Amino acid sequence: MAQIKVIGKRKRIALVAHDHKKNDLIDWVVYNKTVLSRHELFATGTTGRMVEDALDRPIKKLLSGPLGGDQQIGAMIAGGEIDVLIFFWDPMSSQPHDSDVKALLRLGVAWNIPMACDRATADFIMTSPFMHEEYETILPSYTDYLKRPIEEKI
Ligand code: PGA
Repeated sequence: MAQIKVIGKRKRIALVAHDHKKNDLIDWVVYNKTVLSRHELFATGTTGRMVEDALDRPIKKLLSGPLGGDQQIGAMIAGGEIDVLIFFWDPMSSQPHDSDVKALLRLGVAWNIPMACDRATADFIMTSPFMHEEYETILPSYTDYLKRPIEEKI
């Protein structure tokens, strides 16, 4: 049976931007300053410092992405502590932490959270009525996976 998780009106939003995308993200957060002021913000280290400067408010900063920040956000998604991921990743450069990037994107999908990887999608999410209301997330059922004998999982 599907499990429902209710996301409150005040969303917990994680912000991450690769180096070549940081200016875009900062532009975007400034443009969305009013909406973002109603929500709780988290970010990887360097992105977080830039967002704090741009918005003139403290936010929760994790480690820098390549030092484990992406994995920290992934773990928070799995633990139900992040509701929305805005991740401006750079499709034109490889990253030293490509495997962490992939893992973060995978967990966002695995836990069915709204996730924007480009500015247009971020705009669509930010202007959704769900940003101002409670939202019932249907959590994917992994019951079949969990029931599989351990030999099939490895
Ligand atoms: P940063 O990390 O905000 O610390 O630069 C972003 C990333 O994942 O590359």
